[in-house]
Amino acid sequence: MSSNLSPGPPVGPPIGPFLHLENVDKTFFMGDVQVEALAGVSLEIHDGELLAVVGPSGSGKSTLLNLIAGMDRPSGGTVRFREENIGTFSDSQQTDYRRERVGYVFQFYNLIPSLTALENVLISTELSRDPMSPEEALRLVELTDRGDHFPSQLSGGEQQRVAIARALAKNPELILCDEPTGALDFTTGKRVLRVLVDLNRKFNKTILIITHNSAIAKIADRVVRLRSGRITQVETNARPIPPEEVVW
Ligand code: ADP
Ligand code: MG
Repeated sequence: MSSNLSPGPPVGPPIGPFLHLENVDKTFFMGDVQVEALAGVSLEIHDGELLAVVGPSGSGKSTLLNLIAGMDRPSGGTVRFREENIGTFSDSQQTDYRRERVGYVFQFYNLIPSLTALENVLISTELSRDPMSPEEALRLVELTDRGDHFPSQLSGGEQQRVAIARALAKNPELILCDEPTGALDFTTGKRVLRVLVDLNRKFNKTILIITHNSAIAKIADRVVRLRSGRITQVETNARPIPPEEVVW
């Protein structure tokens, strides 16, 4: 079976900012109440990077990811993806961007219960122009033998790996994960992180993982800390640890 997910260049220092957030604000209005979910967030993300965004619940992590995913638009500032200002995209440009360029992994997997694992991956490939085969995507998350299973016949960790295969199968430039291990036990969570780290290290996929769990951040190349909608710290991990060594 051939793969059109070619291994990227040898893993080395990340090259060029490929995602650039400048002074990003996001304010939600709920009747009379105004929530400033993000305030003045500036950040560069590099091609091939594994980045963790860490912060307590309500700090703006999901809001940040949704803006990068093209699921929402900033109230102020710019989000540039390879020099394109995605905040000013038309609705159809935004749809194309989401379909073609971004893979999204959710905390609760969001698989369609009446479709098999393979079919869940297949429908995502049918929406994109340059997908890999669903079988290949399942192989990369080590679920070749589970393609015919329905989500209810899979463990939480397996369901999340199907969700990763679904995100990956589109061949996106960027994979965004919102609390990917949030619903999983310790051991299963580490297995899911291993799949993400392998996709980053072997195939040079740019991956953002957001989590409220600081321990997970140790697997990343860089860690961004968020609090009350503001970045409080950005640090580089000189030596990211393997997921198997994470303790939480
Ligand atoms: P996190 O993912 O870090 O837990 P969120 O980004 O979900 O945080 O939320 C940040 C803040 O913005 C919270 O106070 C939350 O209640 C608020 N918020 C998020 N989405 C919306 C929305 N669609 N409408 C109103 N408020 C929202
Ligand atoms: Mg969240």
